[in-house]
Amino acid sequence: MKCPWCDFEGGPRSLHAHLGEQHPDAVATSERYGKTFYEVTCPTCGARYEHIVRKGARDPGFVLEFQQEIKMVALDMLIHHLMAEHEQHEQHEQQPGLQARVGPAGW
Ligand SMILES: [Zn+2]
Ligand SMILES: [Zn+2]
Repeated sequence: MKCPWCDFEGGPRSLHAHLGEQHPDAVATSERYGKTFYEVTCPTCGARYEHIVRKGARDPGFVLEFQQEIKMVALDMLIHHLMAEHEQHEQHEQQPGLQARVGPAGW
């Protein structure tokens, strides 16, 4: 997998660690209506994922303490998105077109 922000390449786990270390700004947390959200945006296609932080939403100290954990979960969503939406397309393009091969069957 390739990092959407730089030239880093690696497996999903190493990319996850790389994002957490080099691109922590990819994940934003915000508060609305007394609830805490975290959101992550795909830089390749602009898809935006947003989730409510359920645990300890009434305790601001909890969010600060577990912000790193929240980021890891958000980056996990981004990596799943990259695998589903962007990695597969490259693999499909590399597949040879089997349907185009028509042999003289039955002869
Ligand atoms: Zn990177
Ligand atoms: Zn995307």
